[in-house]
Amino acid sequence: MTTNTKATGGCICGGVRYEVSDHTKLRPVVACHCEQCRRFSGHFIAASGTQHKYFTLLNQETLRWYTYIPNVKQGFCGECGCSLFFDYPKEARISIAAGSLDNTDNVTLAAQIYCTEAGDYYHLHPEGEMIDDGEFSLNCPD
Ligand SMILES: [Zn+2]
Ligand SMILES: [Zn+2]
Repeated sequence: MTTNTKATGGCICGGVRYEVSDHTKLRPVVACHCEQCRRFSGHFIAASGTQHKYFTLLNQETLRWYTYIPNVKQGFCGECGCSLFFDYPKEARISIAAGSLDNTDNVTLAAQIYCTEAGDYYHLHPEGEMIDDGEFSLNCPD
């Protein structure tokens, strides 16, 4: 049994660090192959997420926000360029790029969305629910 149940993560340069107060509050990962996520990440986005109340920025020195979808803020490191967050300010949740987590031992993939928009240069590996469009949602644990 582990006593430290926090989940932590951040970018390569360390200018952005965050923690989720309990790793069981992380949602399973949803991968998105839509065109915008491809551009934002350079390939595709695989995002976990949690509720704002469990999420704390430990360092946001180099954190920058950009909005390309209404009501969603994309967070990235302005120094090293890592894609990090999708924040939904009007909702209780924030999505977290799964690759930015320090430890992914307990993280599983639940679904892949916008499969029809995936880049032509790779084959989708069937894992989790495969959804053609964005019609899928997964609540973050309460
Ligand atoms: Zn950085
Ligand atoms: Zn997407």
